[in-house]
Amino acid sequence: MRNKDEFQKAQKYIPGGVNSPVRAFGSVGSTPVMIDRGEREFIYDIENNEYIDYVLSWGPLIFGHCDKDIEDAVISTAKKGLSFGAPCLLETELAQLVLSKFPHLDKIRFVSSGTEATMSAIRLARGYSKKDGVIKFEGCYHGHSDGLLVKAGSGATTFGYSSSLGVPNDIVKNTHLAKYNDLNSVKECFKNGDIGVIIVEPIAGNMGLVPGSDEFLHGLRKICDENGAVLIFDEVMSGFRASATGSYGLNKIEADIVTFGKVIGGGMPCAAYAGKKDIMELISPLGGVYQAGTLSGNPVAMAAGLAALNKIYNMPNLYDELGKKSKFIIDTMQDSANEMGIPLQTTMRGSMWGFFFNENPVTNYTQALQSDTNLFAKFHAQMLKRGVYLAPSQFETCFVCKPLSQTSLDKTAQAIKESFKSL
Ligand SMILES: *Cc1c(COP(=O)(O)O)cnc(C)c1O
Repeated sequence: MRNKDEFQKAQKYIPGGVNSPVRAFGSVGSTPVMIDRGEREFIYDIENNEYIDYVLSWGPLIFGHCDKDIEDAVISTAKKGLSFGAPCLLETELAQLVLSKFPHLDKIRFVSSGTEATMSAIRLARGYSKKDGVIKFEGCYHGHSDGLLVKAGSGATTFGYSSSLGVPNDIVKNTHLAKYNDLNSVKECFKNGDIGVIIVEPIAGNMGLVPGSDEFLHGLRKICDENGAVLIFDEVMSGFRASATGSYGLNKIEADIVTFGKVIGGGMPCAAYAGKKDIMELISPLGGVYQAGTLSGNPVAMAAGLAALNKIYNMPNLYDELGKKSKFIIDTMQDSANEMGIPLQTTMRGSMWGFFFNENPVTNYTQALQSDTNLFAKFHAQMLKRGVYLAPSQFETCFVCKPLSQTSLDKTAQAIKESFKSL
């Protein structure tokens, strides 16, 4: 009962007992377990129950928990001091490493969260295009800054409305909503407003996993070129998850600005935005777009990120290997669902995988919302009971990590089969 008691106590002091809403298990109608520690692909709650972890801190932990190389880098860096607020060599080293893998990106600025990265990227893109209008897509999440906190409307691609209390309509009036994987809805937005920026998750991971089609992404590039708009790919999740170079590695489409987060910090708070030289040199202190951060480029975060990315780039078969693990899981799910007559859609990109309890393929937010969330909640509870920790929402992506063993995969497969039977 310690899990329940401690979560009760947390709720007394912290709103909802959590410091980020989806951790509260609200959408699956249950209580979160309190995590004590992690090791490889496992997490352990305070009652010492073991779970195979497919959340992995919502993406960052591609090498699982307590990876020795990352841990060593963090400890030895921390011993030299936690923060200086002055330039350090690790910043240059991580910048150089990331940029060397993305030939279309010339400069990078580090921040501390994905929210900061996308918020700053939008400011920079507006500063560059000198236009206020921003297109975002229904179902894409870019962090919680005011102007981007606009959800799906009733489907019509018109002016956005705020989807959080406290966000003035005045602020979101420049946010135009378009439909994911639908270029016509983008063209409509250009007719309706002075658009200077398109921001998109090229592989959407925040309405469940919904990859953008190559045609859609190429189309966005073309529309931006034709209209003098800046294209931002938000790869905070997909950046080092879908491939070693995110969506770029899969289709070579060059965005003007790319945002990174999650894996780039190796589990420490770190994110970044990168772009072409003429755009990036508009950022303060070189140009007129202001952006700053006391802990930005923090040495311990840089060390963790460097350790993670160096491992990634020293393992040529990493994403093949991770892809095989993802595929094993979604194939198992699809086969057992078919056997049981449960409608299920599955998809994967590298180390990202996802599923919808849905009769039809999911290519946009409207279709994602038609999924059976009650069935998801039951499935989630059954899996948790069997020691498999999945994201507590139908509209999240699951991940695999490098240390995930075949034994754990087999255990997961067994749990999937039993859970489907019990539905
Ligand atoms: C997680 C995420 C963010 C926000 O990052 P935080 O570090 O949580 O602020 C932004 N964009 C995408 C695509 C994400 O997945």
